[in-house]
Amino acid sequence: MKEDIIKYAASRGADITGFASVDRWPQYNEIPPEFWPASLWSMAKTVIVMGMQMPLPIVDTTPSILHRETYETSNRELDSLAYGLTRYLNRAGHASMFFTRDGYGSIKNIIEKPYAAFSHTFAAKYAGLGTVSRSHNLLTPEFGSRVRLVSVFTAAELEPDQVMEKDLCINCMMCVKCCPAGVLKKEADTDGYYFKFDVAGCARWHEELTRRRAYPCGICTKVCPVGEDRGLYQERGMSKKYQSEMKAIENDIDSPEYRSWNHFRKYGSWAIKNGKIFDFNAGGEK
Ligand code: SF4
Ligand code: SF4
Repeated sequence: MKEDIIKYAASRGADITGFASVDRWPQYNEIPPEFWPASLWSMAKTVIVMGMQMPLPIVDTTPSILHRETYETSNRELDSLAYGLTRYLNRAGHASMFFTRDGYGSIKNIIEKPYAAFSHTFAAKYAGLGTVSRSHNLLTPEFGSRVRLVSVFTAAELEPDQVMEKDLCINCMMCVKCCPAGVLKKEADTDGYYFKFDVAGCARWHEELTRRRAYPCGICTKVCPVGEDRGLYQERGMSKKYQSEMKAIENDIDSPEYRSWNHFRKYGSWAIKNGKIFDFNAGGEK
C-alpha cells in the first residue's frame, strides 16, 4: 500500500512524500496535544505528508507577481493532491481525511491567534522529510525551505519513515540578516534552539504585501543556503547578493544586479511602492 501511495502522489505532482505514525507527536511532545492528529481525528493512525517545490528563481523575485501566482498555484495543486489521495484511500477501504495546506484562515486571524490549526512543518519532520530550522521553517535536503506541504490523515497503519537525525540548519543566520520586517532575532528562544520570532510582526508585513498584491514574503526561504535545488540552478554562494539587496535597491531601485528580479515586482503588482520594496512605511496608495 505504501508503494502505491508514493506512486500515486508522485504521478499527481508530489516532489516528496513521507509517512509518520501518529505516536510521533506524543513521542516528541513539541506541540500542544490539541494539535496532535489523534486529538483531531480519533481514527488517524498515519499521517502522509506531501511536498511540492517552489522553484528557486521564482522565490528569488519575492515579493512579486510571479512569486504570488506560484504560491497560489501550489496551494491549489496541494489541496487537489490531498483531496485526490484521500478519496483514493477511501476507495481502497482505508478511511482518510486531509488537512488543507494552510490552516490559519487569514492574516488578520493569525495576528490575533498566531497558530495554524495543524502544523505541516512538524508533520513533515515526523514523516522524515526534513528538520525544523532555527527560522521555524521545514528544511529539506532537496529544496531547503522552498517547499510547500499538505497532510493526509489515514486509518491505515503504514510503516513510518525514519525521522532525520542530522540537523540541516547550519545556523548561518541568513534568514535573520535578510528578514525585511526584522521579526527573526539572532537571540535564541526560551528553548535555546529557535530564533526568537515575532509571528504577529511577520503577519503585519504580509498584510502590507497583500495590499500591494505581492503576498507572501518568504525571504527567509529564499536566502537559506540549504537545498540541492541550488546546485540545479547554479545558485550557490548567493549570500553576498542576498545580503546586499535591500541596501542596493534602497540606493537605486533600478540597480542592475537586481533588475531581472525587479521586473516581476514592477509589473502585475504594487510590490514597489513609492519607489521602495522592503519598506513597511513606504506610504501612499502605490
Ligand atoms: S516571511 Fe518574511 S517577514 Fe516573515 S520571517 Fe520570513 S523573511 Fe521575515
Ligand atoms: S538561513 Fe541559515 S540559519 Fe536560517 S534556516 Fe537556513 S540554514 Fe538555518
